[in-house]
Amino acid sequence: MLDPQKQALIQEVDRLSPELSQISRFLHAHPELAFEEHQAAELLTRTMEEHGFSVERGVAGLPTAFTASYASGEGPTIAFLAEYDALPGIGHACGHNLIASGSVGAALALKAFLGEVPGRVLLVGCPAEEKGGGKIPLVESKVFRKVDVAMLVHPSNRTEIVKKALGMRDVQVEFFGKAAHAAATPHLGINALDAVILTFNNINALRQQIRPDARIHGIITNGGKAPNIIPDHAVALFYVRALDMEYLEDLYQKVLGCFEAAAMATGARYQVKRAGNDYHPHRVNYTLGHIFRQNLEALGGVVDQGPEAAELGSTDVGNVSQVVPTLQPTITICGPKVSCHMAEFAVASASDAGEEGMFMAARAMALTGLDLLRDRDALHRVKKEFTGGRRP
Ligand SMILES: [Zn+2]
Ligand SMILES: [Zn+2]
Repeated sequence: MLDPQKQALIQEVDRLSPELSQISRFLHAHPELAFEEHQAAELLTRTMEEHGFSVERGVAGLPTAFTASYASGEGPTIAFLAEYDALPGIGHACGHNLIASGSVGAALALKAFLGEVPGRVLLVGCPAEEKGGGKIPLVESKVFRKVDVAMLVHPSNRTEIVKKALGMRDVQVEFFGKAAHAAATPHLGINALDAVILTFNNINALRQQIRPDARIHGIITNGGKAPNIIPDHAVALFYVRALDMEYLEDLYQKVLGCFEAAAMATGARYQVKRAGNDYHPHRVNYTLGHIFRQNLEALGGVVDQGPEAAELGSTDVGNVSQVVPTLQPTITICGPKVSCHMAEFAVASASDAGEEGMFMAARAMALTGLDLLRDRDALHRVKKEFTGGRRP
């Protein structure tokens, strides 16, 4: 049974629900790619200003990043993260329109109680989750310095509380050989494509010997121009992923060795390039997850997960989780055969079930924020797990 303050908080989310639904629908109807989310950032910052938040635009040098802050008295800072980028060709097939509106809902609802409990509510507008890792410069520019806890809820085909994420590093290898006629004078050429193929073979051999939770996978982005020309230029792009950065570094060095060996075997020259920053693994916080779970279940939410953290890909939320206790649960908005990055997931993200999930996320996040603002002991336990690095 929820106490009267919590019941009032839920009513506040319900009161806001038409506006949240409008935000979600607008974002869905105007999908924008990573770092180009100008309409989304405009709508979200305007909304927060209309509700009395102080807004800072263009945070960390990113035109579509922002913070919106509201404080009353001296107290902890609860941050809700809004993502709002879409995917090329399939729009909001990751449901970030629901993430944005859910976090706005939690921030606005919790703000209404800041007179009763001291503290600060922060909405962090995080561009480019799908490509480029917009949260990485936000973390580097100390946006989370005074934040006590950060939260966001991702739509999914399952409701899970604690999610692990792998650290990830991208690496491109470019081989330079020598063109020659592939039939008449192959002995005069140096085959850059062979170097790429040997790189894949080396990495495939390496994969047999790596930890089961690590991943190395790649594509060939340039494999030559015509079969009758020995390719003088070939390029491949790889992602290296692991649950901790130390092992990721280890694997990365081995992958560099795979490039080197392929170059030696073929006589090609090679060059290595990195496109982005490292995505860090998600540092899970079971204490925070437990508080969220209790609230979600009190609201009638059904969790599809046991006590252990479920596996996931990689996300720049991981970088946030390294500097502040962070929770990113998922909430069900569709059946098990549909998953994010499928065209059907974009449909689910604009459906009634999608909105219901988003309202539920906003309620559970707001309740969790209230728990942490009014119960310093709970906040202390969350922080203790974070600094101690150990599960309670
Ligand atoms: Zn995605
Ligand atoms: Zn996503």
